[in-house]
Order: sequence, then structure tokens, then C-alpha cells
Amino acid sequence: MLHVAVIGGGCAGLAAAARLAEQNIPVTLFEAARQLGGRARSLRWNGHTLDNGQHILLGAYSETLSLLKLAGVDQAKALLRLPLQLTMQPGFELRACHSLPAPLHILCGLMLARGLSWRERWFAVRFMSRMRLAGFKLGQDQSLAELLEIQEQPEKLTRLLWEPICLAALNTPIAKASAQVFLNVLRDSFLQTRTDSDMLLAKQDLSRLLALPLAEFIKKKQGRVETATAIDSIALAGEAFELEDSKGRSAVYSHVILAVPPFRVAQLTSSLPALTAVASCETMRYQPICTVYLQYDAGLKLKLPMTGLRQGMGQWVFDRGQLDGQHGLLAVVISAEGSYQNLPQEQLASAIAAELGRAFPQLAEKLTAPLWHKVITEKRATFACTPGLHRPKMLSGIRGLYLAGDYVAGDYPATMEGAARSGANAARHLIQSLQQGKIS
Ligand SMILES: Cc1cc2nc3c(=O)[nH]c(=O)nc-3n(C[C@H](O)[C@H](O)[C@H](O)COP(=O)(O)OP(=O)(O)OC[C@H]3O[C@@H](n4cnc5c(N)ncnc54)[C@H](O)[C@@H]3O)c2cc1C
Repeated sequence: MLHVAVIGGGCAGLAAAARLAEQNIPVTLFEAARQLGGRARSLRWNGHTLDNGQHILLGAYSETLSLLKLAGVDQAKALLRLPLQLTMQPGFELRACHSLPAPLHILCGLMLARGLSWRERWFAVRFMSRMRLAGFKLGQDQSLAELLEIQEQPEKLTRLLWEPICLAALNTPIAKASAQVFLNVLRDSFLQTRTDSDMLLAKQDLSRLLALPLAEFIKKKQGRVETATAIDSIALAGEAFELEDSKGRSAVYSHVILAVPPFRVAQLTSSLPALTAVASCETMRYQPICTVYLQYDAGLKLKLPMTGLRQGMGQWVFDRGQLDGQHGLLAVVISAEGSYQNLPQEQLASAIAAELGRAFPQLAEKLTAPLWHKVITEKRATFACTPGLHRPKMLSGIRGLYLAGDYVAGDYPATMEGAARSGANAARHLIQSLQQGKIS
């Protein structure tokens, strides 16, 4: 009997289950945690709703945006859409020229960037143009730092532009980051249509943005969503799969989409014939993301909803008052590994508050004394996106068992879009194989 089990209720699992439900295919989504969303979720803390980390979406996130539409989310209400503008405090600003089509909008933006010399602007444009001519393809992957050096990118340009983009997109320091994946991001975000480079910020908490509407959609289409239910083992049952869950139940499913993080794959598939994916899942390395929430008086407001920081540990500050109406709440993001990891939370929060004071001198007095703080560190926020990284394929090698997740082979780094595309791809492949009367 046709019934698909999707294991894992992050972006990938939700996307897979929603795409199956859309085609009226019986599906049950299992999520180990009490809430859906995985690494893109909100949580309650001391009466406040905070995201596990501030997320940015891009206009190029076609699958994520299509899923929001499928779930009936009103994007104008749910997302603040900002045409590309990277403002770093102090002294750097890159604004895309909105009257021009892509890629001229970004090239013109680079030529007018504030805080760069003419030479640095020219080198940035030359880099983009050369990469475009090369079709954004490298003969062999290398670290982004190496590529930028070969391309003679001035140190200041790297520090103000390429490094922040790399950290935000790949969550991996430039010395370790894959130049090829970085180029994929440039290609998809900056050079196709103008709105691809728009930045989209949630105007509500993350769970309400994506996870909850998708779960509602799945249920409306007669799918089942079981939270607080971990799958403990998967075994073959003829051509089907027998799943045992943490509530001691077992049931048989015709297909399985395994949408758990890579470090859970080996354990979950240990009763199955060996998967080739396991070796690459086991050798995958991770990078953290830390979000420091600082609450100030509700009257405190920054000039912009999102500002880059240049002179310390914090990389971006988001004014949540301008996003989800939590006035006076600032979220400071620190991507990837760094010395901040050795600081106790209390010390890190004070250091970040002091950095904010220096970045916005006119608000310094207020910013150095928050009313409360909360530090959330996700130690395995994303896989380390290193050169030539071997990412497992969606087809597991066992008929009817698919892998999905931000780590599965694809063009994107670990992002909501990478996860959503991977889940949707697995579902589409499964649907196609059903239509063709075969199971892959
Ligand atoms: C702090 C932070 C900031 C980020 N910022 C951005 C950003 O700005 N933009 C962006 O696009 N991306 C960002 N990301 C990355 C993005 O959140 C992830 O790439 C994406 O959410 C991964 O989705 P996933 O479904 O692949 O994995 P996950 O979200 O990890 O989902 C896997 C799910 O499987 C569940 N699970 C595990 N084992 C079992 C089991 N045995 N049975 C049932 N369920 C199980 C887990 O509980 C989890 O919910 C950020 C991530 C973090 C942590």
C-alpha cells in the first residue's frame, strides 16, 4: 500500500511532505522534537518568542517562496522585502541600482559603493565580470581565500564585501570555504533577475513563517504530522520499510524520505544494507552560528532593520522591532567559528553590547546597557562548506529510500533553500517513479 514516511520535520522534511501531500499521496511526517522547523524554528524563553537564529532569505529562494505560496502564506505580510543593500557600520554601503536590470544593477552598485576606493570598486567589478565569463565554474574547487588572492582582490575589498557575503551564505571562513559554492551563490543571487538579490526578512517568528503553515497544509491534504516522535530504526520489510518509533510503535511504509541531519543517518540506517552515503555523512564537519539577543527600552530603534558590523565579533545586527514588532530587541549574528566560542555567555553579551555602542555612537549610552540578553549558539548550525566536499546523493542506493536535507548534493550551501529544494526534489523523484510505475 502506498504510504510515504518522511523522517525529520525541518525545512527539507516539510518540503518533501508538502510536495507529496500536494499530489494527494498518503504521507506521515515524523519529527523527534516537540516542535517542527529543525534548525529554522522559534522557541519560547522567559515569556519571549525568539528564533533559534536570525535567518535571511533571498529573492532567489524559489522553492521556499513557492512552498510559502502553496501553504497560503501572504508573503507581503509575512516577509519584509528589501532590495539588496549592504550597509556596514561604520563607513561601507553597497546598494544595488534598482532601475537597472541584472547584472547591471549589481555592477553599477559596486561602482558606486561607499567606503571603497575607485581601484577597489574596479577590482570588484572585474572579479564579477571574469567569473561571469567563466560561467561561474572553476576547473577545480579551491578555498575562496585562494581564489580571491589569484584574482588580486584588495584586502579591504575582501574584508568589507567578499568575506561578509561568504560568512552569511556559506557560514564558513573564507580560508576554508568552497570557492565554487560561493560562485554558485553569486550566480543565483546577483546575476539572473534583479529581484533574486532582494533580501527577505521574516516579519513574524520563524516557526509561524514556514513550519506551521506547511504542517497545516499537509494535514489539510489528509497527511499526518507526528511531533515528539523520533524514528529509532528503519528495516527492510520485503519491498517496503518497517519503522520503529520512540513510542514503541512499528508500522510499514512503502517509501521513506530520510530528512534528518547527516550525523543521524548512520544510526538510523544501521539495520539496512550499507548505504554509500554514510561515509560522507560521518566525515562531514560543522560550523556554529551564535545569535546574541539584547533587549533595550522599547523606544530604541536603529536606522535600518539590518546592518553589518565591522569592528568586532558581531557581524550583523537586526532590529526585531522593525521586523516582528518586538520593539527594542536587537539580534546580533556571529557566523562560523571564532574566538567568541571561548567566552562565557555573560561576557559575550557585554562585549557585543559594547561593540554596538561603538558602531552606533549616537546611541552608545543606551546600547551598552541592555535590560536582558539571551545567547543562543547552534554548534552544528551548518555543515562546513569546504572545497570539493563530497555530499551524498538523494538516491540512497536502496529502492524507495531517499535522502533529503541541506547537506545532500546540490548547488546551494546549507540554507533553508538548499534544504527545501532537496526535500522537494526527493518528493518529485518519488512521484515520477510512481507515475512511471517503478520505484527508484
Ligand atoms: C542559527 C542558524 C542561522 C541560520 N541562518 C540561515 C539563514 O540566514 N538563511 C538560510 O537560508 N539558512 C540559514 N540557516 C540554515 C538553515 O536553517 C538550515 O540549512 C535548514 O534549516 C536545514 O534544514 P534541514 O531540514 O536540512 O535540517 P534540520 O532543520 O536539521 O531538520 C532535521 C530534523 O530532523 C529531526 N530528526 C532528527 N532525528 C530524527 C529522528 N530519529 N526521527 C524524527 N526526526 C528526527 C530533527 O529534530 C530536525 O528537526 C541557519 C541555521 C542556523 C542554525
